[in-house]
Amino acid sequence: MTVDNTHEAVDRVTAEIEALRQAKPQLEEVLKAFSPFIIMRQRWLATPELRRQPWFADELRLAGGIPLIKQRDAVDDLLWEAAARFAVSSIHQGFPWFVEDTAKLAEMLATGQATATGLLAGQVFESESESGNPAPVDQMQPGAMRLFRNFGRRFMLSGARQDHESLLQRCSWSKGYCPLCGALPQVAVLDDQGRKLLVCLECSHSWYFSRLSCPGCEHEDAQASTVFFVDDTKDETAFVCSQCGRYLPTKRLSLALKQPNYDVVSLGLIHLDMILQEKGFLPMSEGIWNVLTASEEPAEQR
Ligand SMILES: [Zn+2]
Ligand SMILES: [Zn+2]
Repeated sequence: MTVDNTHEAVDRVTAEIEALRQAKPQLEEVLKAFSPFIIMRQRWLATPELRRQPWFADELRLAGGIPLIKQRDAVDDLLWEAAARFAVSSIHQGFPWFVEDTAKLAEMLATGQATATGLLAGQVFESESESGNPAPVDQMQPGAMRLFRNFGRRFMLSGARQDHESLLQRCSWSKGYCPLCGALPQVAVLDDQGRKLLVCLECSHSWYFSRLSCPGCEHEDAQASTVFFVDDTKDETAFVCSQCGRYLPTKRLSLALKQPNYDVVSLGLIHLDMILQEKGFLPMSEGIWNVLTASEEPAEQR
């Protein structure tokens, strides 16, 4: 992809973030924290030359319901290093209260005290054993490390998703979990024709799913689910399952002209996350901004 395309992708998502900021000024702080990651993810996807070696994928096993993440070969160390650099930069820009931690992390990686593969591979592949934290990691704030691992994993998974785009489009998939990374969706979209699209924010993949079933427990009992909404904003709802106690924020959107950035769509619905978690429901999938913990917030806000 050319530099122009990178600019175009970044400009487009920046405009979507700006539109959300205008529409919902109360999201200012959360947008400040997470938009660097969202923009960096666009940059990452616009530079596929960073990923010279796509993962192995077996179409037949995929057709049998086995997500691609369980079929992979080893990933190149250089790729982990690139993902680690993107993750450090995302935290550095969005979370200024972790500035010492990002400096320490960058130094550890540059001097070889820690390797990106050692810190990140176990976050993506279960079979990859954690190589134990090098001593300096233990001195870092847990919130900074959690963001680093979470962002690093998302860069890797969304890259793999892009590399396997045509295979994923070809396969018919009716499960509630993601065919690439196996995660449950974090947000859903109801399109112009009333069809439900589930969106995995770990890897950014989306796929159509039965409107009445729960992606979490896959029941098809219409009595066991309800639609939750606030006041008259009926374009922004949540699917709530009384069987497994989980919810899925859902936005009605026209997909005819363009595909929106789903990270931005999800951020625009976090008021539903807050309300439903207060009511005791669990998110379908624990992302970063829908379960923000105290350790990620600046100390003075705790
Ligand atoms: Zn996924
Ligand atoms: Zn359920």
